[in-house]
Amino acid sequence: MTSIGHIINGEAVSGGTRRQAIYNPATGSSSYDVELADKATVELAIQAAQEAFPAWRNTPPLKRARVMYKFKELLEAHADEICALITAEHGKVLNDALGELQRGIENVEYATAAPELLKGEHSKNAGPAIDSWSEFQPLGVVAAITPFNFPAMVPLWMWPMAVVCGNTVVLKPSERDPSSVKRIVELAQEAGLPKGVLNLVNGDKESVDTLLTDPRIQAVSFVGSTPIAEYVYSEGTRHGKRVQALGGAKNHAIVMPDADMDNVISSLIGAAYGSCGERCMAISVAVAVGDACADQLVNGLKAAMANIKTGVGSDNSNDMGPLITGAHRNKVQGYVDAGVAAGAELVVDGRGLTVPGHEHGYFLGPCLFDKVSTEMSIYTDEIFGPVLCVVRAKSMQEAMDIINAHEYGNGTCIFTRDGEAARYFSDHIQVGMVGINIPLPVPMAFHSFGGWKRSLFGDLSAYGPDAVRFYTRRKTITQRWPAGGLRESAQFSFPS
Ligand code: NAD
Repeated sequence: MTSIGHIINGEAVSGGTRRQAIYNPATGSSSYDVELADKATVELAIQAAQEAFPAWRNTPPLKRARVMYKFKELLEAHADEICALITAEHGKVLNDALGELQRGIENVEYATAAPELLKGEHSKNAGPAIDSWSEFQPLGVVAAITPFNFPAMVPLWMWPMAVVCGNTVVLKPSERDPSSVKRIVELAQEAGLPKGVLNLVNGDKESVDTLLTDPRIQAVSFVGSTPIAEYVYSEGTRHGKRVQALGGAKNHAIVMPDADMDNVISSLIGAAYGSCGERCMAISVAVAVGDACADQLVNGLKAAMANIKTGVGSDNSNDMGPLITGAHRNKVQGYVDAGVAAGAELVVDGRGLTVPGHEHGYFLGPCLFDKVSTEMSIYTDEIFGPVLCVVRAKSMQEAMDIINAHEYGNGTCIFTRDGEAARYFSDHIQVGMVGINIPLPVPMAFHSFGGWKRSLFGDLSAYGPDAVRFYTRRKTITQRWPAGGLRESAQFSFPS
């Protein structure tokens, strides 16, 4: 069996004795595995990054940005190859993989603006003959730890901005779908990224714990589930690191009675079931205001769901691929069972779906629940599968109170024709990313991405302008050149 290893100091290396099989979720079969780095292997990667830092820190931002221009061209030229790797290991439909890659490329485009973004601030004559300025210095070696559901995009949220800001990186992607990110790191080297600036280690908890405790790591960017995000945040900060840890979600859409229902239904079908619901911005709860609105919504969704095609991701005529693993499929199915047992109305049941010729794939058809109440586990928990829950509320305020009481605050959306209602909603909802008639309000690369509450631990969001602040440290310099022999006598008070 072949194994996927690591890339350290520009070389493909092997390291660690443990292995994990990589499955094709559409077939349930495995023909290769990934090496899980041990502590010593991760330490080699940290050392390589540490050694590459002084020269890279002093490389002009314009030259760092030029590597990103070349890298973007290579990503575009190799898009089909990268997307095939994503689909083979994650399962998502090829078109969706291309959309993921495109969002990642947009972050590379933003990173090319590094010379502009790093310009700093300057005050001439901040005091008499005194000049003062702030500059943004790189931190050193930073770590990036990423989840399975966007194997190409989430790493691209992190390391391009980290490196154009002058840092060097150890990237630890998900051990469940490591091939696309490995290919992308190879392309970054082909684009001219010097050896050691970006190092890739595949691994699991042992790698993560090494990154969280090694004193050479200055900062950690993490995206994954909330329990692990919270752990990474507390362990990393306890070891003196700057940490941003993005966690899970339960994204609600409010459907107002005046909404354009055709738009609501097509939007929700894509937002709930695209990528089989394995998106941190997927809509998993629709809160319908009023019973008439709820009835219309549920009937419309049910009719539209009859047309959703579930099958292999390599066939672009399918809408939904398989879930990532058999264990995850069983977990999602367990939630559906629990929802039925708790008394929610299962309007569309996707359990028991088989795809002819792919009987061992991890497929689950789309599921729709109505009359879900807020104490049910299908409501409280992030399911991360193709399950949409409809909750009925009597008023917009009740719908907003429901959303605000949830532990997560990643994304949300309101469907309405009423501008005043939309404005009130966006102003008062306790959620970090808000859509108005837009179900997946994922910020563009030139904004920043971050939820509120238990969807983000840390102070700065991912990518965009916040990334410049996260990956740099402000230094403020104040200078005076005493002229003409003028010297001040000792001053014991602040000048007034
Ligand atoms: P995960 O938390 O299982 O894994 C994320 C990373 O943490 C992986 O690199 C993994 O190797 C590592 N890890 C796993 N267990 C660990 C442990 N015990 N100790 C240390 N490290 C550990 O998440 P996942 O299943 O890969 O991804 C899905 C989750 O990510 C969902 O909860 C989803 O909402 C979330 N997510 C959030 C965002 C966001 O921007 N907020 C984006 C994408 C995904």
